[in-house]
Amino acid sequence: MGQLNTFPLSYKVQGQRIVVLGGAEEALNKVRLVTKTTASVVIISRHIEADFSAFPVAVIERAFAPSDLDNAALLFVAEEGLDAELAKVEARARGIPLNVVDVPAECDFYTPSIVDRAPLTVAISTEGDAPVLARLVRARIEAMLSPRIGKIAGLAGRLRKAAESLIHDGAARRRFYEALVTSPEIEAAESKGQGLTAAEALLAHHANGRTQGVVWLIGAGPGSEDLLTLRAQRLLQEADVIVHDQLVPAVVIDMGRRDAERIDVGKAKGHHSFSQAQINTLIVRLARQGKRVARLKSGDPMVFGRAGEEIAALRQAGVAYQVVPGISSALAAAADTATPVTLRKVSSGFVTATAHGADDSDLAHWAALAQSGLTLALYMGKSIASDVAARLIAHGAAAMLPVGIVVNAGRADKSTYAGTLGALAANRIAFSDGPAIIFVGEAVAAGDWAEAVQLAASGFKVA
Ligand code: SAH
Repeated sequence: MGQLNTFPLSYKVQGQRIVVLGGAEEALNKVRLVTKTTASVVIISRHIEADFSAFPVAVIERAFAPSDLDNAALLFVAEEGLDAELAKVEARARGIPLNVVDVPAECDFYTPSIVDRAPLTVAISTEGDAPVLARLVRARIEAMLSPRIGKIAGLAGRLRKAAESLIHDGAARRRFYEALVTSPEIEAAESKGQGLTAAEALLAHHANGRTQGVVWLIGAGPGSEDLLTLRAQRLLQEADVIVHDQLVPAVVIDMGRRDAERIDVGKAKGHHSFSQAQINTLIVRLARQGKRVARLKSGDPMVFGRAGEEIAALRQAGVAYQVVPGISSALAAAADTATPVTLRKVSSGFVTATAHGADDSDLAHWAALAQSGLTLALYMGKSIASDVAARLIAHGAAAMLPVGIVVNAGRADKSTYAGTLGALAANRIAFSDGPAIIFVGEAVAAGDWAEAVQLAASGFKVA
């Protein structure tokens, strides 16, 4: 570990002034930072050029006077010239810490990148060596912390005395604080201004020696880690157990805590390792043990994810749950191929439907799809793609309708196929490995299928 030349600390500025000398962009950057505090911020310059009107600051357009530093906690010098020199001398004489913008040698302190969830603050510093890295790290931390975490940290502060008197065991108290700062129920209550009431209820609950588990049904998206929502990422990192399907790739499962338990209930086609009933029982049991369970599903949990059955089981067992949406694979496939699944005057809607689950004899299903006139996004149809095409044609769909197929949508190894419904019906295609979405409809031809394997010599015209 290297040694620091600066020491990060939290410096009291409440009830004092922070003085910024300068009236241009550099001053504005500092103002943005220091107005996160309750200090009164004063801007002084002979030339005020930037627009400070969005900030609660006093703007004084005149020369610097030594008395400007009365009761000042910090001075930022963000301009050059006589005033700047005078202010520096005055600050040094008074022992007021000084920051001279872009002149490290003259600085008593640097300003870190800040993630502000007051009272929670995360300050990131590279001692000026790599501000770009500091910004990147900051963005990651921003994504990890809910916008309401500061309010919730405030609740922890307010309940500290009560927690100490109600829960004597240190470890149990820690579990309470952990539950407080991670519970989606508290967050939801806080968003309605009822955080304190909910936090008190949680405290009473823990004081009685009971802790409650929760199941988060999380959409993992199509399989790239950067197509996960921030909420999904945050809850994954909070989970004690991750229960995942086969289609969720390792990169996403790895995003959970290192010490979290991982259970693969993968239902690879053909060999069902866990029955749906077993999965339902499993997540209820884990939650009842007080665990926070991430039930991770590919795409969106509510789309062909059997979430309905799991939610019913959780409700019946009285287990708390929350659903976190994800990018469904049809939408990832649309994005990959720039296919507008709705298109003015061409397709007034799109239908996501199963190509597999519906019974072969479910004539209404096929008739409705064939005659909808909408863009179809068919899931679970790759291995029976030709049959699906034939069935749609048999129910009245035009053989000339454009078809586009995306295998491994949203992933680096995606592959695409394009043609017509007739061509798909007539040919057995050797698709590459992986799950696939089959698009059918006029709007498909508006997509970018230039890279696609053609289903037959006479594919639809690629624009
Ligand atoms: N809940 C998921 C669907 C699960 S059902 C979602 O919203 O996407 C499984 C089917 O989803 C697969 O048979 C396939 O049709 C589709 N699928 C899942 N991931 C996919 C991907 N990365 N690319 C293409 N299709 C995918």
